Amino acid sequence: VSFRLLTPETEGEALALLTSLPEAERTVLSGGTDLLLDLEFGRLRPASVVSLRKLPWREMAWEDGALRVGSLRPLADIERDPEVARRIPGFWSALRAVGSLALRHRATLGGNLARAAPASDLLPILLALDAEIETVGTGGRRRIGIDPFILGSRRTSLAAGELIRSVRVPAAPSVYLWQRVRPANDVSQIGVAVARGPDGRWRIAVGGISPRPIRLPGAEAALSSTSPSPAEVGEASTRAAREAPFPTDKRATEAYRRHLVAVLVARAIDRVGSSA
Ligand SMILES: Cc1cc2nc3c(=O)[nH]c(=O)nc-3n(C[C@H](O)[C@H](O)[C@H](O)COP(=O)(O)OP(=O)(O)OC[C@H]3O[C@@H](n4cnc5c(N)ncnc54)[C@H](O)[C@@H]3O)c2cc1C
Repeated sequence: VSFRLLTPETEGEALALLTSLPEAERTVLSGGTDLLLDLEFGRLRPASVVSLRKLPWREMAWEDGALRVGSLRPLADIERDPEVARRIPGFWSALRAVGSLALRHRATLGGNLARAAPASDLLPILLALDAEIETVGTGGRRRIGIDPFILGSRRTSLAAGELIRSVRVPAAPSVYLWQRVRPANDVSQIGVAVARGPDGRWRIAVGGISPRPIRLPGAEAALSSTSPSPAEVGEASTRAAREAPFPTDKRATEAYRRHLVAVLVARAIDRVGSSA
């Protein structure tokens, strides 16, 4: 594998470089946990790789009830903050679901979002929490909700030469539950994220299904109060199992995914309800 490695030192330099290189001939590198495999296996053959590692986009701050994280912050450095576990427990669990601790020392939040893998463990919880992405490009800065940001499997609404700068994750009572064949090193067959927003409304999202994680509005509508009755939880779980377009693939059958979603949605609602 041979390519030219470029390491801009400022945001302006990075954007200028991306503009000057033809899109088909360059790619961007953050932690490299996905990208280095693409290069190694020849799935990508860029002439230039623009590394973001010298940019200072690693800040983490609480602002107006939300956590703002620089896109280059490794996942392990986010999960280590006890405030994250306390104020956004679902996000914390989802971070810890990603691969191994060694992987999370390299993998960045921006890289996971830009990749937009159908089985990402972070996308469902960010959907349930209504996270917002801040991007930078030659056209300036842009804020975009996580839902319109994910277009499909490995497709985002990032424009050519546009980069993820930071992510805003609202704090909320939340839970993320997942299922895998081998917990330590597999990709999730299903990921279920449940959060209760500041308006008291429930938000349920499911991932591990292709082409992208989705919200389940029918299941959400079954939950009328902060502490739903067992009948309401049962109804939400039944609707969730019917609502999503569950695929059969090498990781799980459609029927097994439906069963898992019913079980995990009920469990997650109970846990969020009991944390109130
Ligand atoms: C063994 C293994 C296990 C894994 N397990 C899981 C798992 O359990 N759950 C899970 O969700 N993921 C898992 N992953 C996927 C992976 O670790 C994540 O997607 C990771 O967060 C990617 O971040 P990165 O910094 O390494 O991205 P990179 O590999 O550097 O980049 C990934 C892609 O994003 C683009 N990109 C990177 N940063 C930016 C930016 N700031 N702006 C715009 N584009 C950008 C790159 O050009 C590239 O296309 C696993 C990967 C491996 C190799």
